[in-house]
Formats: sequence, structure tokens, C-alpha cells
Amino acid sequence: MDARARIKALAGDLGFQTVRFACAGRSPDAAHLESWLSDGMHADMDWLSRTADVRVDPRVRMAEARTVVVLGLGHAWNRPPHPGGRAGLVARYAWGRDYHNLIGKRLKKLRQALRDAGIESFGGVDTAPVLERSWAVASGAGALGKNAVVFQPGRSSWGFLAALVIDAEVEPDAPYARDPCGTCSRCLVACPTGAFSGPHRLDARRCISYWTIEARELAPEALLPGFGAWVFGCDVCQEVCPHNHHPPDPTEPDFLPKNAWLDLDEVLATPDDALMERFLGTPLRRPGAAGLKRNAAVALGNLGDRGAIETLERWGLAHEAPVVRDASRWAVARLAP
Ligand code: SF4
Ligand code: SF4
Repeated sequence: MDARARIKALAGDLGFQTVRFACAGRSPDAAHLESWLSDGMHADMDWLSRTADVRVDPRVRMAEARTVVVLGLGHAWNRPPHPGGRAGLVARYAWGRDYHNLIGKRLKKLRQALRDAGIESFGGVDTAPVLERSWAVASGAGALGKNAVVFQPGRSSWGFLAALVIDAEVEPDAPYARDPCGTCSRCLVACPTGAFSGPHRLDARRCISYWTIEARELAPEALLPGFGAWVFGCDVCQEVCPHNHHPPDPTEPDFLPKNAWLDLDEVLATPDDALMERFLGTPLRRPGAAGLKRNAAVALGNLGDRGAIETLERWGLAHEAPVVRDASRWAVARLAP
């Protein structure tokens, strides 16, 4: 069996639904990444600029790099009904088990199998300096929408992408050639915080996903009303995309919806340790307890239910973290008559 067939078989056995190949070299998106970084659109995610040289060209890290293997796996997308009460929205990718764990373990197995066959590799799922989206487009695994998200034709953008750079020559797949968007601009218009400065140009400094997951501070007040009920991430620019309206059902049980909604009062009232314990093994731990409580307070302020003031005053304003108190103060002021 040649390397291509062997890698496809190994990855398929590990549950990856997409396995495609691109020639390793300077990324076709190098110029875009460099201008995006130089314009500061990565906010304070400094690791993106620190590793830009490898992202732009994987041969900086592995001189013998020949091929990028692109791997895809779908996650749940069909949100369960509102559970009642004051509930916050969680981005779909975070509804189940932490994808870093599940996909990371599978990549480890794949890399070991490749090593046994004499093939060295590096890469990961969001954890390595590899431009997964760019290689997905180059390999035809997906197409880049104006919302800066890759969707897999016939599947949707509700999925994970991983990439492994390998030192073996594998015949590449053809890139996705069609313009996936045409005259559509729904995602650019729908963003509640105006985070797009143009097609494919997403400014993290205005994005709800950045502020509710990566940032440790409270977002600028002018942005907070746009956060709506989002308590972790945001899917608006994907929800409106016509390519996402009828995707196939997911098959991975670990990614089925467990935390599609969060009870916002409960998030604020639960002790920090217990909150982190509850979300063990899920992406929801990423902002930390204070970050989640900050997000819950903002969402409560946006829901417009004055019954939340009691929770905000009792738990939010009394929290030890200034960011939770600041968010709660903002929410109470927004809800007060
Ligand atoms: S994730 Fe939300 S806030 Fe960020 S660009 Fe998309 S719609 Fe805008
Ligand atoms: S909403 Fe329209 S413009 Fe945006 S990614 Fe989807 S097809 Fe492209």
C-alpha cells in the first residue's frame, strides 16, 4: 500500500471523515496572515505572531516537510430547545467533550503509526503552528467563506480541522476551485459586533468568541450589548450561512450536545472550583471560572429580565475577581429602570 492509501486507511479507522493532502511549502494565505497580524487583528493572542514564520511555511520547523495531511471531523449543530429560565448560548463546537483531548489522542495514534512506517510529522488541532484552514482549502477539504471559516462542501462548517505536516511525498488533492460565496454577504452583515472589516477579515478585537473565551478582561462597553445571550463563543456568522442549513447529522457521540445552553444564574452562584469541576473535559474551562461568570453576567444583562438583578448582586458583585464585579455592575445598570 502506498503512503497515500495507508494514511487514508489509518485516519479513516481513527474516525476522521475527511482526509486530504496538500504540498507543504509557503502557505497560499501567507500574505493574508502577515497583513492580518500587522494590523493587530489577533488582539493579544501573541502566540499567533510568535509562531507566524512556521505558520507561513512549515519547512521552517521541519526542513524535510513535503506534505500536509488535512483531517476533518463533524460536530453537533442542531441546538436543543431552550431549557427555560435564564439560559446562555454556547458555541456548537463546545457542546461536548474537549476536541483537543479526543482529536489529540487520535492524532497521537496516527503519528505513532506514521513513525512506525518511517514518516516523521508535526501538527495538531489548534495546538500547533499550522494554518489548518489554509491547508484545508489547498487540499480541497474545504472552502473559505467570507466569514473566515472553512466549510466542507456537502458537510458544513460545523466541524473540526486538524493538520499534520509530514516528511513523505504524497500526491496532493486538487484545491476547491469554486467561489463558495458569490454575491452573498449574510455573515458580514449579521455579525452583532461588526467584527468583519471585509470578506475574510475578522478583527478579533471585536469578536464575541475572542472576548468570551480568550480574553481575561471585560470587553469594551460599546460591544457588550451585541453579545446577546452568548456565554461562550458565538456562532452567528456560521448560523446565517446557507452552506450550513442542512448538514448531515454528526456521528461522533463525544460531540453530541451536552452543554448547548448554560443556566446563567447557576453559573454565577456555583463556587468557582465546583464550576470548573463540572466542566472537566470540556472546552468550557478555557476562560476559567471568573471568565465564565463574567460572560454569564453580561448575558444576564442582555436578556432584559430584571429578576436576574438579585443573582447579579448576590453572587456577581460579591465575587473576588474584579472582572466579574465589573461585568455584574454593567449588567445591573443595564437592567435597572
Ligand atoms: S463569531 Fe460572532 S462576533 Fe465573531 S465574527 Fe462571527 S458573528 Fe461576529
Ligand atoms: S454567509 Fe454567504 S458570504 Fe458568508 S460564508 Fe456563507 S455563503 Fe459566504
